[in-house]
Amino acid sequence: MRSFFQWLMDLLFPTKCMLCGKLMDDYREIVCRKCLDNLPEWDVSPRKVGGYIGCAVPFFYEEPIRGAILRFKFHGMRSYGEQFAQWMANRIWAELAGQYDFLTWVPCSRRRRHTRGFDQTEVLAKCLAKELSCPVYPVLKKIRNNPKQSTLGDAARRRANVLGVYRVVDPERVNGARILVVDDVVTTGATLEECSKMLTLAGAKDLVCTAIASARMDHKK
Ligand SMILES: [Zn+2]
Repeated sequence: MRSFFQWLMDLLFPTKCMLCGKLMDDYREIVCRKCLDNLPEWDVSPRKVGGYIGCAVPFFYEEPIRGAILRFKFHGMRSYGEQFAQWMANRIWAELAGQYDFLTWVPCSRRRRHTRGFDQTEVLAKCLAKELSCPVYPVLKKIRNNPKQSTLGDAARRRANVLGVYRVVDPERVNGARILVVDDVVTTGATLEECSKMLTLAGAKDLVCTAIASARMDHKK
C-alpha cells in the first residue's frame, strides 16, 4: 500500500512517463511498464564506429526513445539524462568494461550552448560518469560552427562536415589515456570517428565510445 507521503507526493508532483507522457501512479518512477516492455533495444552485433572502435549503444534510434532524446536535447530534462545514463551504463558494463580510464563527450559549439543554455551531451556524460563511478573531463572543444549532421544526407558529406571541427584542449590528459567518448545519437558515426581521430593524434592510447541510440541502417558499418 502507498504511504500517505507517497500519496501526497503523487498529488503534488504528478510525474509523466518520459517516453509516452502517460501520468504515472508513483512519483518515483520515470518510465511506465508499457514503454519498458516496448523499448527498441539494440539486439544485433555490437555497434562499431569507423569499422573497429567499439561503441556501446542500448537502443535503435526509434520511438519511443527517439522522441525522448529530442525532448532531452531541446527541453533540457535532466532526469532524462539520468535514465539514459543508466541504460547506457548497463551496455557499457557488458561490452566495454575495463577498456577506458575516463570519459569525455562530443561538445557542441559555444553558440549552440548559449542558445540552449546547456550542452546536453555534457549533462549526459556527467550522469554517466556518476553511474560508472568514473572521472569525466572536457578534453575536446568544438572550434567551428558547422551545419547540423542531421541536415546532411550521405556518409561522405557528414564526414566532410565534421573535418577539423574538434580540437583537443587538454593534450596532457589525453596522452597515453584510454578514453570513452560519449555522444547522444550515432548515425553514420562520422562525428565520433572524427573525435577519435583527434584524440588519437593527441596520443590517446585507446578509444571506445557510447551513445543512447544508433540508426538501424548503419549497424554493420
Ligand atoms: Zn510510457
